[in-house]
Amino acid sequence: MQKILLAVILCTLIFTSCENENNTIDEPAALNEAPVFNADNAYAHIEKQLSFGPRVPGTNGQKQCAAYLQSEIEKHCDTVYVQKAKVTQPISEKNYPCINIIGSMNPDALYRILILAHWDTRPWADMDDENRNKPILGADDGASGCGVMLEVARAIKESDLQLEDVGIDFLFVDVEDVGKTEWSSLSYSLGTQYWAKNPHVANYKANYGICLDMVGAKNAQFLLEGYSKQYADDKQRNIWDIANRLGYGQYFLYQDGGAITDDHVVVNEMANIPCVDIINLQEGGSFGKYWHTHDDDIDIIDKRTLKAAGQTVLQVLYEE
Ligand SMILES: [Zn+2]
Repeated sequence: MQKILLAVILCTLIFTSCENENNTIDEPAALNEAPVFNADNAYAHIEKQLSFGPRVPGTNGQKQCAAYLQSEIEKHCDTVYVQKAKVTQPISEKNYPCINIIGSMNPDALYRILILAHWDTRPWADMDDENRNKPILGADDGASGCGVMLEVARAIKESDLQLEDVGIDFLFVDVEDVGKTEWSSLSYSLGTQYWAKNPHVANYKANYGICLDMVGAKNAQFLLEGYSKQYADDKQRNIWDIANRLGYGQYFLYQDGGAITDDHVVVNEMANIPCVDIINLQEGGSFGKYWHTHDDDIDIIDKRTLKAAGQTVLQVLYEE
Protein backbone atom coordinates (compact mmCIF):
# COMPACT_ATOMS: atom_id res chain seq x y z
CA MET A 1 0.00 0.00 0.00
CA GLN A 2 2.84 2.35 0.92
CA LYS A 3 4.58 1.59 -2.40
CA ILE A 4 1.44 2.43 -4.32
CA LEU A 5 1.10 5.65 -2.39
CA LEU A 6 4.72 6.54 -3.12
CA ALA A 7 4.22 5.81 -6.81
CA VAL A 8 1.14 8.01 -6.88
CA ILE A 9 3.02 10.86 -5.21
CA LEU A 10 5.97 10.47 -7.60
CA CYS A 11 3.69 10.49 -10.64
CA THR A 12 1.93 13.57 -9.34
CA LEU A 13 5.26 15.31 -8.77
CA ILE A 14 6.54 14.44 -12.24
CA PHE A 15 3.27 15.49 -13.83
CA THR A 16 3.26 18.77 -11.89
CA SER A 17 6.85 19.61 -12.72
CA CYS A 18 6.24 18.84 -16.43
CA GLU A 19 3.24 21.07 -16.31
CA ASN A 20 5.33 23.86 -14.75
CA GLU A 21 7.98 23.46 -17.40
CA ASN A 22 5.49 24.16 -20.14
CA ASN A 23 3.69 26.82 -18.23
CA THR A 24 6.28 29.57 -18.49
CA ILE A 25 3.87 32.36 -17.60
CA ASP A 26 4.04 31.70 -13.87
CA GLU A 27 7.80 31.20 -13.81
CA PRO A 28 9.66 34.48 -13.29
CA ALA A 29 12.80 34.82 -15.39
CA ALA A 30 16.01 34.15 -13.51
CA LEU A 31 17.50 37.16 -11.82
CA ASN A 32 20.42 38.86 -13.51
CA GLU A 33 23.89 38.46 -12.16
CA ALA A 34 24.65 41.24 -9.67
CA PRO A 35 27.72 42.14 -7.62
CA VAL A 36 28.01 40.76 -4.10
CA PHE A 37 27.20 43.14 -1.25
CA ASN A 38 29.75 42.76 1.53
CA ALA A 39 28.01 43.40 4.86
CA ASP A 40 31.36 43.57 6.70
CA ASN A 41 32.23 46.67 4.70
CA ALA A 42 28.87 48.31 5.41
CA TYR A 43 29.29 47.50 9.12
CA ALA A 44 32.78 49.05 9.14
CA HIS A 45 31.34 52.22 7.57
CA ILE A 46 28.81 52.39 10.41
CA GLU A 47 31.53 51.95 13.05
CA LYS A 48 33.57 54.68 11.40
CA GLN A 49 30.63 57.11 11.38
CA LEU A 50 29.99 56.37 15.07
CA SER A 51 33.65 57.07 15.86
CA PHE A 52 32.94 60.74 15.13
CA GLY A 53 30.31 60.78 17.88
CA PRO A 54 26.83 62.18 17.22
CA ARG A 55 26.73 63.87 13.79
CA VAL A 56 24.59 66.79 14.88
CA PRO A 57 24.51 69.78 12.51
CA GLY A 58 26.90 72.47 13.71
CA THR A 59 29.25 70.13 15.62
CA ASN A 60 32.70 68.78 14.89
CA GLY A 61 31.17 65.36 14.39
CA GLN A 62 29.27 66.77 11.45
CA LYS A 63 32.40 68.18 9.81
CA GLN A 64 34.44 65.03 10.32
CA CYS A 65 31.73 62.71 9.08
CA ALA A 66 31.04 64.85 6.01
CA ALA A 67 34.74 64.70 5.08
CA TYR A 68 34.70 60.92 5.53
CA LEU A 69 31.58 60.35 3.43
CA GLN A 70 32.91 62.61 0.71
CA SER A 71 36.31 60.90 0.54
CA GLU A 72 34.68 57.46 0.48
CA ILE A 73 32.10 58.19 -2.21
CA GLU A 74 34.76 59.89 -4.34
CA LYS A 75 36.48 56.49 -4.65
CA HIS A 76 33.49 55.03 -6.45
CA CYS A 77 31.73 57.80 -8.34
CA ASP A 78 32.51 59.77 -11.50
CA THR A 79 31.40 63.11 -10.10
CA VAL A 80 30.87 64.23 -6.53
CA TYR A 81 28.99 67.37 -5.53
CA VAL A 82 29.05 68.92 -2.09
CA GLN A 83 26.30 71.35 -1.14
CA LYS A 84 27.01 73.57 1.84
CA ALA A 85 24.06 75.67 2.87
CA LYS A 86 22.26 77.18 5.79
CA VAL A 87 18.83 75.75 6.43
CA THR A 88 16.24 77.12 8.80
CA GLN A 89 13.90 75.20 11.03
CA PRO A 90 10.51 76.72 10.11
CA ILE A 91 9.12 76.59 13.64
CA SER A 92 12.01 77.38 15.98
CA GLU A 93 13.65 79.53 13.25
CA LYS A 94 16.95 78.04 14.33
CA ASN A 95 19.59 77.91 11.59
CA TYR A 96 21.65 74.82 10.86
CA PRO A 97 24.68 74.36 8.64
CA CYS A 98 23.79 71.66 6.12
CA ILE A 99 26.18 69.51 4.08
CA ASN A 100 24.60 67.39 1.35
CA ILE A 101 26.92 65.10 -0.60
CA ILE A 102 25.99 63.65 -3.97
CA GLY A 103 27.98 61.00 -5.81
CA SER A 104 27.00 60.36 -9.43
CA MET A 105 27.80 57.29 -11.49
CA ASN A 106 27.47 57.45 -15.24
CA PRO A 107 26.41 61.13 -15.12
CA ASP A 108 25.44 61.29 -18.81
CA ALA A 109 22.88 58.48 -18.66
CA LEU A 110 19.33 59.72 -19.07
CA TYR A 111 17.77 56.85 -17.14
CA ARG A 112 18.68 57.58 -13.53
CA ILE A 113 18.01 56.09 -10.13
CA LEU A 114 18.40 58.14 -6.98
CA ILE A 115 19.48 56.39 -3.78
CA LEU A 116 19.41 58.48 -0.64
CA ALA A 117 19.93 58.31 3.09
CA HIS A 118 20.28 60.92 5.80
CA TRP A 119 23.58 60.95 7.64
CA ASP A 120 22.92 63.45 10.46
CA THR A 121 21.84 62.28 13.88
CA ARG A 122 19.18 63.57 16.20
CA PRO A 123 20.25 66.23 18.74
CA TRP A 124 17.94 64.72 21.37
CA ALA A 125 17.02 61.32 22.75
CA ASP A 126 13.41 62.31 23.27
CA MET A 127 12.15 58.74 23.34
CA ASP A 128 14.59 57.67 26.04
CA ASP A 129 13.89 57.61 29.78
CA GLU A 130 17.26 59.19 30.57
CA ASN A 131 19.47 61.92 29.14
CA ARG A 132 16.74 63.05 26.83
CA ASN A 133 18.50 66.29 25.93
CA LYS A 134 21.69 64.56 24.85
CA PRO A 135 22.26 63.64 21.19
CA ILE A 136 21.95 60.04 20.07
CA LEU A 137 24.66 58.04 18.30
CA GLY A 138 22.35 57.01 15.47
CA ALA A 139 23.87 53.68 14.42
CA ASP A 140 20.66 52.71 12.67
CA ASP A 141 18.99 56.12 12.38
CA GLY A 142 21.69 57.84 10.35
CA ALA A 143 24.72 55.60 9.88
CA SER A 144 23.13 52.42 8.51
CA GLY A 145 21.68 53.86 5.30
CA CYS A 146 24.98 55.60 4.49
CA GLY A 147 26.98 52.45 5.23
CA VAL A 148 24.79 50.50 2.82
CA MET A 149 25.04 53.19 0.14
CA LEU A 150 28.85 53.31 0.32
CA GLU A 151 29.06 49.55 -0.02
CA VAL A 152 26.56 49.46 -2.90
CA ALA A 153 28.69 52.07 -4.68
CA ARG A 154 31.88 50.07 -4.08
CA ALA A 155 30.31 46.83 -5.26
CA ILE A 156 29.19 48.42 -8.53
CA LYS A 157 32.45 50.26 -9.12
CA GLU A 158 34.64 47.20 -8.56
CA SER A 159 32.42 44.81 -10.47
CA ASP A 160 33.02 43.65 -14.03
CA LEU A 161 29.26 43.67 -14.49
CA GLN A 162 28.31 46.87 -16.21
CA LEU A 163 25.17 48.84 -15.57
CA GLU A 164 24.47 49.88 -19.13
CA ASP A 165 22.62 53.11 -19.73
CA VAL A 166 21.73 53.44 -16.05
CA GLY A 167 22.99 56.36 -14.03
CA ILE A 168 22.97 56.30 -10.25
CA ASP A 169 23.04 59.23 -7.86
CA PHE A 170 23.90 58.58 -4.22
CA LEU A 171 22.52 61.41 -2.13
CA PHE A 172 23.74 61.73 1.46
CA VAL A 173 21.43 64.29 3.02
CA ASP A 174 22.04 66.26 6.16
CA VAL A 175 19.68 67.83 8.74
CA GLU A 176 16.91 65.25 8.54
CA ASP A 177 16.35 64.73 12.22
CA VAL A 178 15.93 68.14 13.89
CA GLY A 179 12.14 68.01 13.59
CA LYS A 180 9.36 67.26 15.99
CA THR A 181 5.96 65.81 15.22
CA GLU A 182 4.23 68.71 16.97
CA TRP A 183 6.18 71.12 14.73
CA SER A 184 4.67 69.63 11.53
CA SER A 185 6.23 67.30 9.00
CA LEU A 186 8.10 70.20 7.35
CA SER A 187 10.29 70.48 10.45
CA TYR A 188 12.01 67.27 9.33
CA SER A 189 14.15 66.61 6.25
CA LEU A 190 15.53 70.14 5.98
CA GLY A 191 18.54 68.94 3.98
CA THR A 192 16.37 67.09 1.49
CA GLN A 193 14.08 70.10 1.20
CA TYR A 194 17.11 72.23 0.37
CA TRP A 195 18.27 69.70 -2.24
CA ALA A 196 14.80 69.48 -3.80
CA LYS A 197 14.76 73.27 -4.25
CA ASN A 198 18.44 73.43 -5.23
CA PRO A 199 19.31 70.18 -7.01
CA HIS A 200 23.00 69.42 -7.58
CA VAL A 201 22.49 69.78 -11.34
CA ALA A 202 19.95 72.08 -12.95
CA ASN A 203 16.65 70.39 -13.82
CA TYR A 204 17.77 67.17 -12.17
CA LYS A 205 15.43 64.28 -12.81
CA ALA A 206 15.59 60.64 -11.77
CA ASN A 207 13.21 57.95 -12.91
CA TYR A 208 12.69 56.93 -9.33
CA GLY A 209 14.33 56.94 -5.94
CA ILE A 210 15.03 54.57 -3.06
CA CYS A 211 15.43 55.99 0.44
CA LEU A 212 17.29 53.90 3.03
CA ASP A 213 16.55 54.71 6.66
CA MET A 214 17.11 52.39 9.59
CA VAL A 215 18.22 49.44 7.48
CA GLY A 216 20.61 47.75 9.90
CA ALA A 217 18.88 46.68 13.09
CA LYS A 218 18.61 43.08 14.20
CA ASN A 219 15.32 41.49 13.13
CA ALA A 220 14.32 44.57 11.16
CA GLN A 221 11.11 44.40 9.21
CA PHE A 222 10.65 46.50 6.14
CA LEU A 223 6.91 46.94 5.77
CA LEU A 224 5.12 48.53 2.82
CA GLU A 225 5.29 52.20 3.78
CA GLY A 226 2.23 54.27 2.89
CA TYR A 227 3.61 57.28 0.96
CA SER A 228 5.82 54.96 -1.08
CA LYS A 229 2.74 52.98 -1.97
CA GLN A 230 0.83 56.14 -2.83
CA TYR A 231 3.53 57.61 -5.10
CA ALA A 232 5.58 54.64 -6.30
CA ASP A 233 3.44 51.56 -5.93
CA ASP A 234 5.00 49.65 -8.85
CA LYS A 235 8.58 50.41 -7.76
CA GLN A 236 7.84 49.40 -4.19
CA ARG A 237 6.28 46.14 -5.34
CA ASN A 238 9.28 45.45 -7.59
CA ILE A 239 11.76 45.97 -4.74
CA TRP A 240 9.80 43.70 -2.40
CA ASP A 241 9.43 41.02 -5.09
CA ILE A 242 13.16 41.03 -5.82
CA ALA A 243 13.99 40.89 -2.10
CA ASN A 244 11.68 37.93 -1.65
CA ARG A 245 13.15 36.14 -4.66
CA LEU A 246 16.61 36.64 -3.15
CA GLY A 247 15.36 34.93 0.02
CA TYR A 248 14.96 38.00 2.21
CA GLY A 249 11.26 37.52 2.80
CA GLN A 250 11.72 37.60 6.57
CA TYR A 251 12.82 41.25 6.25
CA PHE A 252 10.73 42.49 3.31
CA LEU A 253 7.20 41.71 4.41
CA TYR A 254 4.12 42.26 2.26
CA GLN A 255 2.37 44.06 5.05
CA ASP A 256 1.22 47.67 5.29
CA GLY A 257 3.34 49.75 7.65
CA GLY A 258 1.58 53.10 7.85
CA ALA A 259 2.65 56.40 6.25
CA ILE A 260 5.91 57.80 7.61
CA THR A 261 7.39 61.30 7.48
CA ASP A 262 10.83 60.75 6.00
CA ASP A 263 13.09 62.14 3.28
CA HIS A 264 11.25 60.19 0.59
CA VAL A 265 8.12 62.32 1.11
CA VAL A 266 10.10 65.42 0.11
CA VAL A 267 11.54 63.59 -2.91
CA ASN A 268 8.04 62.55 -3.94
CA GLU A 269 6.28 65.85 -3.30
CA MET A 270 8.92 68.57 -3.82
CA ALA A 271 11.28 66.96 -6.32
CA ASN A 272 8.43 65.08 -8.06
CA ILE A 273 10.47 61.89 -8.22
CA PRO A 274 8.60 58.70 -7.26
CA CYS A 275 10.47 57.40 -4.26
CA VAL A 276 10.24 54.30 -2.06
CA ASP A 277 11.27 54.24 1.59
CA ILE A 278 12.94 51.10 2.93
CA ILE A 279 12.57 51.58 6.66
CA ASN A 280 12.33 49.36 9.71
CA LEU A 281 8.71 49.57 10.86
CA GLN A 282 6.49 47.91 13.37
CA GLU A 283 2.85 47.14 12.66
CA GLY A 284 0.78 50.31 12.96
CA GLY A 285 3.60 52.59 11.77
CA SER A 286 5.75 52.80 14.89
CA PHE A 287 9.50 52.19 15.07
CA GLY A 288 11.81 49.90 16.98
CA LYS A 289 12.24 50.40 20.73
CA TYR A 290 15.75 51.84 20.21
CA TRP A 291 14.41 54.66 18.02
CA HIS A 292 15.45 58.13 19.21
CA THR A 293 17.05 56.65 22.32
CA HIS A 294 20.64 56.05 23.42
CA ASP A 295 20.15 52.38 22.59
CA ASP A 296 20.59 53.25 18.92
CA ASP A 297 24.25 52.23 19.00
CA ILE A 298 26.41 49.59 17.31
CA ASP A 299 24.96 46.78 19.46
CA ILE A 300 21.66 46.83 17.61
CA ILE A 301 23.28 46.51 14.17
CA ASP A 302 23.11 43.09 12.51
CA LYS A 303 25.10 42.30 9.38
CA ARG A 304 22.33 40.01 8.13
CA THR A 305 19.95 42.95 7.96
CA LEU A 306 22.53 45.09 6.18
CA LYS A 307 23.06 42.27 3.69
CA ALA A 308 19.33 41.91 3.01
CA ALA A 309 18.92 45.63 2.37
CA GLY A 310 22.13 46.12 0.39
CA GLN A 311 21.93 43.01 -1.78
CA THR A 312 18.33 43.84 -2.60
CA VAL A 313 19.24 47.36 -3.72
CA LEU A 314 22.06 46.01 -5.89
CA GLN A 315 19.79 43.43 -7.45
CA VAL A 316 17.11 46.03 -8.15
CA LEU A 317 19.71 48.12 -10.01
CA TYR A 318 20.93 45.14 -12.04
CA GLU A 319 17.38 44.22 -13.03
CA GLU A 320 17.03 47.58 -14.80
ZN1 LIG B 1 15.29 59.77 13.39
